[in-house]
Amino acid sequence: MKVTVFGTGYVGLVQAAVLAESGNNVVCIDIDEDKVARLRRGEIPIYEPGLAPLVEESIANGNLSFSTDAAEGVAHGELIFIAVGTPPDEDGSADLRHVLTVARTIATHMDSKKYIINKSTVPVGTADRVRSAVSEVLAERGRAELEFDVISNPEFLKEGSAVADCMRPDRIIIGTSEKASEQKMRQLYAPFNRNHEKILVMDVKSAELTKYAANCMLATKISFMNEMANIADKVGADIEAVRKGIGSDPRVGYHFIYAGIGYGGSCFPKDVKALINSAEQLGLSADILAAVESRNERQKHYLLEKIDAHFGGDLKGRTFALWGLSFKPNTDDMREAPSRVLMEGLWERGAQVQAFDPEATEECRRIYGERDELKLCDSRDAALAGADALVIVTEWQQFKALDTAALKQALREPVVFDGRNQYEPEDMRAAGFHYYCVGRPDTA
Ligand code: NAD
Repeated sequence: MKVTVFGTGYVGLVQAAVLAESGNNVVCIDIDEDKVARLRRGEIPIYEPGLAPLVEESIANGNLSFSTDAAEGVAHGELIFIAVGTPPDEDGSADLRHVLTVARTIATHMDSKKYIINKSTVPVGTADRVRSAVSEVLAERGRAELEFDVISNPEFLKEGSAVADCMRPDRIIIGTSEKASEQKMRQLYAPFNRNHEKILVMDVKSAELTKYAANCMLATKISFMNEMANIADKVGADIEAVRKGIGSDPRVGYHFIYAGIGYGGSCFPKDVKALINSAEQLGLSADILAAVESRNERQKHYLLEKIDAHFGGDLKGRTFALWGLSFKPNTDDMREAPSRVLMEGLWERGAQVQAFDPEATEECRRIYGERDELKLCDSRDAALAGADALVIVTEWQQFKALDTAALKQALREPVVFDGRNQYEPEDMRAAGFHYYCVGRPDTA
C-alpha cells in the first residue's frame, strides 16, 4: 500500500520502517531538514534497538524514503499518518499545533481520497478538529468534493523496544465508524494480525481516550508502588517482599509494579497532565491522576533527600558518580528523566557529577552543554574514579552485575544510592557498603 508518515520521531520513524519492511511503499515527511538529510544518508537520529538495519534495508529496496516536501508526501500516500509531537502546553493540555498544521497541509495538497490516520496522542475530540481543519482548507480551495476520513490509531510502542512492539503489537486500536476506513486499516495491519486477532475497532472518541487511559493506568501503577515504598521506608518493611506478595495475585500481576525514583519520558508525564486538563475542562476533577502526578514529582527528589541526609546536608565540593541518564534503559531519551532533577539538585547544592550512560551521553551534552559541574564519562568505571558515592538512576542491564571490590576501591567512601533497587541489601552490607535503595531498609 502507499503510505505517507508525517513526523519522523520515535513513533513516525519506527512505524514507517516497520510498514516498509512488510512491503508497503512509505514516504516520511518531516519539517526538520537536518533530520531528513541524516535519514537519507541512513543515519538514525535516535537510539532504538533493531531500527537501523530495518531503515537501511528499506531505503535500499526502495520501500522507504524521506523528504521535507509535504506536497510530494500528500501526493504519494492514500493512507497518511500524522505522527508529530503533542507536547504539553503551559496549562498541561496537549498542544495540537503540529497535528492541525499537518491536517491543513494535507488538505492544501490533496487531489484524491485520503485516509488521514492520527497516531499522535491527542485528547478526545481531536479527530473532529482535524476533520474541520481539512474541510475548511478544502472549501477555501473550492475542492469540497474531495473525500477523506479521519481515523484514530493510537500508538502503544515503548521506547527501548519500539521496533519489537510495532512488529508484534499487543493490540491495534482502530477508531472509525466508516466501513471503508476499517477495511483499509485491516488490510494495512493484516501482517501484524496473523497469529490471533489483535485489531479492536471502536468509535473515534473511545480510541482517543483508550490511549490516555492506558498511559494513565501505567503511571498510576508506578506512583502507587512508590507510595507503598515510602510507607515501607517509614515502617521498616521491604517493598520487594511486598511487590512479590501482591504480584502473585493474578488480579494485580507482576508487571510494572516496581518502586523507584519516578517515571519520566515524553509520554507519561505529559499524558497524565493532559487528561487532568481535559477532565477539568469538562467540569470534573481527576483526583486520582492529580495524586499520581504529585507523587511522581516528589519521588524524583527521593534520592536527593537520602543523599542530603547521609552527608549531613553538606554536599558542597562533593563528587557523585551517576550511572544512567536516560529515563529508562535502552533509550537515549532524557525528556522528563529523573536524572535531570537529581543532577540539577546536586548542582544547586554545590556538588559535581560524573555521569555515564550507555546511550544518552550525547543527549545530556546537548541539554546541558559543557559545564564545570558535569563530567560525561565513557565508561561506568571512569564515572566512579574519585567519587564520594555512586548513584544508580537507570536500570541498564550492564549495571546489574557489580564488582563490589573494584567499586570500593574506586570510591572515596563505600556508599551507594540505588534508585532502582538493583542489588540485594544484605549482599551490599556484607561487601561493606552503606547501601540506600527505595522502600527497603538501608544498610550501614
Ligand atoms: P518526536 O518529538 O520524537 O517526533 C515528532 C517529529 O514530528 C519531529 O521529528 C518533528 O520535526 C516532526 N514534525 C513536527 N511538525 C511537523 C510537521 N508539520 N510536518 C512534519 N513533521 C513535523 O515525537 P514522538 O515521540 O515520535 O511522538 C509523536 C506522538 O506520538 C506524540 O503525540 C506522542 O505522545 C505519541 N507517542 C509517543 C510514544 C513514544 O514512546 N515516544 C509512544 C506512543 C505515542
